[in-house]
Amino acid sequence: MKSLLTSWGAYPRTPQTGHPCHWQTEVGPQWQQLIETHGTTLPFGSGRSYGDSCLAVSDHVLQLRPMSRFIEADWENGEICAEAGVTLGEILQLAIPQGWFLQVTPGTRHVTLGGAVANDVHGKNHHRCGTFAHSVVSFGLHRSMQPPMVCSPTENPQWFAATLGGLGLTGVITWVALRLRKIQSSLIDTTRVRFDGLDDFFALSAEMDARHEYSVAWIDCLARGSAQGRGVFTAGDHRETGALQAAVPRSLHMPIRPPVSLINPLTLKLFNHHYWKRQPATRQYQTVAYSPFFYPLDRIEHWNRIYGRKGFQQFQCVLPSAVAQAALAELLNAIARSGTGSFLAVLKRCGDMASPGLMSFPMPGTSLALDFPQNNALTEKLLPRLDSIVREAHGRLYPAKDAHMSGRDFRQAYPAWEQVEAMRDPALISRFWQRVLQ
Ligand SMILES: Cc1cc2nc3c(=O)[nH]c(=O)nc-3n(C[C@H](O)[C@H](O)[C@H](O)COP(=O)(O)OP(=O)(O)OC[C@H]3O[C@@H](n4cnc5c(N)ncnc54)[C@H](O)[C@@H]3O)c2cc1C
Repeated sequence: MKSLLTSWGAYPRTPQTGHPCHWQTEVGPQWQQLIETHGTTLPFGSGRSYGDSCLAVSDHVLQLRPMSRFIEADWENGEICAEAGVTLGEILQLAIPQGWFLQVTPGTRHVTLGGAVANDVHGKNHHRCGTFAHSVVSFGLHRSMQPPMVCSPTENPQWFAATLGGLGLTGVITWVALRLRKIQSSLIDTTRVRFDGLDDFFALSAEMDARHEYSVAWIDCLARGSAQGRGVFTAGDHRETGALQAAVPRSLHMPIRPPVSLINPLTLKLFNHHYWKRQPATRQYQTVAYSPFFYPLDRIEHWNRIYGRKGFQQFQCVLPSAVAQAALAELLNAIARSGTGSFLAVLKRCGDMASPGLMSFPMPGTSLALDFPQNNALTEKLLPRLDSIVREAHGRLYPAKDAHMSGRDFRQAYPAWEQVEAMRDPALISRFWQRVLQ
């Protein structure tokens, strides 16, 4: 049965007709049919990308989520092999009781293996473990007009590199073999402390990243003057003893998409102010379950609907280490002046482990991610201003979150685009790729 799908930000508003693939053997025939009727298509996972990188130019996508069987698990050595539609949450359900965890996980468990590879996602331990690519042993790649192939660092290595962070353009990933990391407990020991400004953030980051596997900070992006850059720093490590319990996914639910965004300058200012005040001024140590630590937003299903019918855009950039602090201060100034804040504003230092993927997003430096309700002032004023700061700092934006970056900025920030374009399957193209290559 076909279904209508959107990206996570619901902007741009171009619903996709999903053509589900349940079996690996269905990929070829389904795809062929789409080529005949619509010319091109795009693989689609869980639609957790915010902008238009998961939207097909034809508005008809090959839906891979139903292809979600486990193929093999080696609990001695911590390796699993599963179809590309299996989600990271489903892997954890199986792996945690056996004493294994994902080496790298993004901030939602609903991402599929195919989507995690295609965006080469990163997590709170980028400073230690790099991107998802480092945990990928091999995967199956299906290209139109070609027999399926196995890709790994030694087998078809050029396709391995182009597909990791290749935005679903090089072919359909049918299965993925993944290396896991050993854990003794499903609990996380955390340290939490609030900080007063960017100087403090960078000092905390240097200290905490050296001692802890995971680290991330929330920042009050509306604070001005002496309060600019204040926030809350959280670090964590897997606990060394305790139960191995997979979380039972239980969540609240945002039932409808209201006509207008529930996020506005007043609600944001109140939220940011009170949230910061409530945080501990001295270090607080707590042991928590892995689920609220890694996936706090998954607690509310469809939370993206609070932004109303116009949807929202996420702006995520990474700024090179040497200029990160100065450029962040400029970004925060521009955001505070615009009055268009974000209740989700995440700062994270990225490490220097280079990804084998040709177009992976992280670089050594600091990443900032913010969600903004969609409106004209955002697209006409604020985003162009933020882009110019990132451009001058020689930073880059994250395609998985993007719905606006200019082609020039993209091509400058990701020079490997030409290699990926040369290896793109001619029967696959996204709205993002069409936009940035024009
Ligand atoms: C709450 C939240 C938190 C997030 N936190 C992070 C984070 O911390 N770090 C991070 O890096 N990202 C993060 N993300 C973004 C998310 O991890 C990525 O966008 C991810 O790629 C989405 O995977 P998906 O399965 O939903 O794929 P989709 O969004 O459906 O597709 C993503 C891309 O993968 C391609 N694709 C999907 N399946 C296949 C396949 N089988 N074969 C080939 N290509 C395929 C698509 O064509 C598209 O280009 C977050 C997203 C949300 C909603």
